[in-house]
Amino acid sequence: MSEQAIGDKNFDAIVVGAGPAGSMAAWRLAGLGHNVALLERGEFPGAKNLFGGIIYSLELQKYFPDFVASAPIERPVTRHATYLLAQGRSLNFDFASQPFGEAPYNGFTAYRSRFDRWLAGRAVQAGALLVPSCVADDLLWEQGRVAGVRVRREEGELHAPLVIAADGILSLLGAKAGLVRERDPSHYSLGVREVLALPAGTIEDRFQIDPGGGCAALFAGDWPGNLQGGGFIYTNKETLSVGFVAQLASLERERFSILAALDAFKRQPAVARLIRGGERLEYGAHTVPEAGHAMRPRLVRDGMMLVGDAAGLVLTAGVIYEGVHYAMHSGVLAAEVAHRALERGDVSARALAEYPRRLQRGYVGRNLKLFRHMPPLLANSRIYRVYPEAMCRVAEDFFKAEERGHAKLLRLLLRHGGRIGPLRGLKDLWQALRALFV
Ligand SMILES: Cc1cc2nc3c(=O)[nH]c(=O)nc-3n(C[C@H](O)[C@H](O)[C@H](O)COP(=O)(O)OP(=O)(O)OC[C@H]3O[C@@H](n4cnc5c(N)ncnc54)[C@H](O)[C@@H]3O)c2cc1C
Repeated sequence: MSEQAIGDKNFDAIVVGAGPAGSMAAWRLAGLGHNVALLERGEFPGAKNLFGGIIYSLELQKYFPDFVASAPIERPVTRHATYLLAQGRSLNFDFASQPFGEAPYNGFTAYRSRFDRWLAGRAVQAGALLVPSCVADDLLWEQGRVAGVRVRREEGELHAPLVIAADGILSLLGAKAGLVRERDPSHYSLGVREVLALPAGTIEDRFQIDPGGGCAALFAGDWPGNLQGGGFIYTNKETLSVGFVAQLASLERERFSILAALDAFKRQPAVARLIRGGERLEYGAHTVPEAGHAMRPRLVRDGMMLVGDAAGLVLTAGVIYEGVHYAMHSGVLAAEVAHRALERGDVSARALAEYPRRLQRGYVGRNLKLFRHMPPLLANSRIYRVYPEAMCRVAEDFFKAEERGHAKLLRLLLRHGGRIGPLRGLKDLWQALRALFV
């Protein structure tokens, strides 16, 4: 991987941030013959990045058909488990798929510190200049158009007619360009994740997976401090990624720390059984965009484009969490539109506007729109406090042998759901139907 000093300080395009969005944008532009700098503040791409997580293969299959042999894959995800947790009870929905275990896989677990490095390596192979340990602090302007970046290195200023900001969820450059609106805390969550070491065989036994398989387990429930959020465990080869994501507003309101939330999550009996004996290797925290469709900034202005998390392109639909391949998708689209604009010598906002249009028409735009009613559902505190408990009680009564005999499911639902109240219950049902079914 190239780490040479920056020689010529003039480029066709400067990409800021070597996460999945930035590396793909740089890869595509370099492959199309442009002189591209890919700036990364970390010592290496991925050094500062963490996620759950699962990487869906969709974009990799399209652009790197050989990725299964060369990418740092931990385990293909062959089992998706969803747990509802209540006091002393848990209810579990399971989906297992053999086809998901066949290459090129639906999705796989990975460490971002390895995956991002691998992906940036592809951009370097295509001809991009990767500059690690390089923080872009500001934008350069010429007659009202973005004309480069100021970097915290001796080179000082780097010039290009086009800057692609792939600098993540708290995009400094997006804010400096006036593209990102004032941030609304209700649009964000905070995620914390730690890596616990366990032998491969123990992981496979506990998560009911074959040696060639993996599990993504998500947990909903009534958390201490009335937190709104959920926990996750992803299986790697010989480690577990264990984490908790909580809405920023609920952390602030309840004055609860995200680390205390993670500890409380790990103490839940259903979770403790799965992670018992795991030795902590590392941990970290990261902001997560939650509002999807509602928080999208403007994506272009003269001489500049936003991609990936910087553009708010993450789908959080309860048990579906998609960000990495959306970032990759947007990076490629932006690069293709940028290529034509650079060829024509017109990088005005008008010339670049084809990028948001294509994004909107593709699966990223369609998915964000499809699940646009999900964020309000996830902001409903009864989703965490009332329904997991009620569902566990329904299951408990269903399986219980009693003198009064069994009751059918509808009666049990009314018995335990009745406390919610008919009006609230109907309102919540409509909210859930709108978010998930219609
Ligand atoms: C807890 C958690 C769990 C998640 N789980 C999943 C999951 O399971 N599956 C999934 O698909 N997605 C998941 N996501 C979302 C996913 O991680 C993001 O959507 C994805 O990383 C976005 O990629 P990106 O390239 O846009 O941004 P990032 O990955 O954030 O990359 C931005 C890069 O820019 C660099 N940078 C930032 N500022 C500067 C600067 N000024 N100068 C130079 N470099 C800079 C950073 O160091 C970083 O390398 C999760 C996120 C979190 C926080």
